[in-house]
Amino acid sequence: MAASAGAATSSFPHLVGATSAGRRHGTALRICATTETGEAAMDVVSEAELREKGFMGMRKTKLVCTVGPACVEALPALARGGMRVARVNLCHGGRDWHRAAMRAVRKLNDEEGFCVSLMVDTEGSQLLVADHGSATSVKAEDGSEWLFTSKKTDETHPFKMHVNFDKFSEGIQVGDELVIDGGMATFEVTDKIGNDLYCKCTDPGLLLPRAKLSFWRNGKLVERNFGLPTLSPKDWADIEFGIAEGVDCIALSFVKDANDIKHLKAYLSRRSLEHIKIFAKIESLESLKYLKDIIEASDGVMVARGDLGVQIPLEQIPAIQESIVKLCRHLNKPVIVASQLLESMVEYPTPTRAEVADVSEAVRQYADAVMLSAESAIGAYPQKALAVLRAASERMESWSREENMQKLLSQHQLAIALPDQISEQICNSAVEMANNLAVDGIFVYTKHGHMASLLSRNRPNPPIFAFTDNANSRKSMNFYWGVIPLQVPLSNDMEDNFKTTISLMKSKGSVKSGDTVLVVSDSDLNRPCADTSVFQSIQVRLVD
Ligand code: PGA
Ligand code: MN
Repeated sequence: MAASAGAATSSFPHLVGATSAGRRHGTALRICATTETGEAAMDVVSEAELREKGFMGMRKTKLVCTVGPACVEALPALARGGMRVARVNLCHGGRDWHRAAMRAVRKLNDEEGFCVSLMVDTEGSQLLVADHGSATSVKAEDGSEWLFTSKKTDETHPFKMHVNFDKFSEGIQVGDELVIDGGMATFEVTDKIGNDLYCKCTDPGLLLPRAKLSFWRNGKLVERNFGLPTLSPKDWADIEFGIAEGVDCIALSFVKDANDIKHLKAYLSRRSLEHIKIFAKIESLESLKYLKDIIEASDGVMVARGDLGVQIPLEQIPAIQESIVKLCRHLNKPVIVASQLLESMVEYPTPTRAEVADVSEAVRQYADAVMLSAESAIGAYPQKALAVLRAASERMESWSREENMQKLLSQHQLAIALPDQISEQICNSAVEMANNLAVDGIFVYTKHGHMASLLSRNRPNPPIFAFTDNANSRKSMNFYWGVIPLQVPLSNDMEDNFKTTISLMKSKGSVKSGDTVLVVSDSDLNRPCADTSVFQSIQVRLVD
């Protein structure tokens, strides 16, 4: 098969496909032919997976593990087990510990050939019980009377809860319902003296450390705006610390609106730290009101079902999750489904069947990533929990591939400017071709990972090998469904890039003669701007 569709691609043998005319103006990027990156190429995990399972056996859903005391020793095993992102939750643990965990992850990457991205997750300002008078859980009996106060005293009182915020009872009336952790226990406010709330337990249950509070009136959440910033002084200090430790991504807790994201992005941009990606955690009723704007402003999203379940009735969470996942795919932003996926594995070596169904559902919805929280951070079986995510995602991916056959996912048009429309159409068509021709893999050469994300958005059957010469872009592509990011030196000669990457992959046994790959080139990797010929192309190449 050999058909050329444009001057600049005519030198490519085995070509089938389309090219876009050079209608993009502006400064072309000059990529140095010899970068100092050497042969970083594919990470050891993807390489082993490809060797063992072949192209179609490569898993597409990305796995995020929260790093905590339970898994520091197990970090190499978690990396081998498919962890693509290590998340350090700054709500828990101290600076020294966080630093040690982050350095351990970076060491693994540097010394053992893994490619694990580092995410820090801010604490944010949230109404919670700072002290409930016990190291473990406290029982609330039916009819028992409790005091919720922000006043800290030394004496401990069995029925006194110390709340972390002075104005916690502002706007609350006698008769309102106080719900703990989305239903762990419920109280009725029986008296209000100053800021203190006297409450009677109406639905007995448990109060855990750092229990979250929400107030309800006539079945509706009492919404209050305390005017607290999304990023507290502690969060800013934590972000500085994360930057100093070389994080790839910041997950922003309790995002209220798009301005929160824009503000942090502007701050990073002023410091030339745009490579640090910002993920918005959707975990409040307020964030749902501005969902689309928040997603558009962010580099990615986390469906933070834990805290969402404090402000939203639990039965509404599955549908909300599905619509966030779908909207993120439409808007081309990676999305992580998080919290309680395998909660029972914090204690037990096997998950419940219902938990496996929940993970499978997130995979069926085509979430980019699924995440472990307590299961890996403090659980007894972090590796087993990761293995369950791996097995469940592998099975569901192959099932939905069979179900969907060659069907393309419906795609809403994203781009407005013509050059962006071209990129988008090239990627949509490339995936359709890749599926119809059943190629072994999709190769994309990309500077910032944009074309890789546009391919991923279509959730193709073959894996996407994304070649970049930029270490930060490589890390950011760890969040994209089905993308295997590789770091290689790239030149502005596409034929050269193809030959170099193919021979590199061949030398590692990753591809062999007879394999078919669909090749997409990124307009960012274009020729010098004097050459306005062809920037983007799709080709199908047979490896000789
Ligand atoms: P957290 O966020 O683990 O930081 O609480 C996730 C969630 O609320 O679901
Ligand atoms: Mn949360």
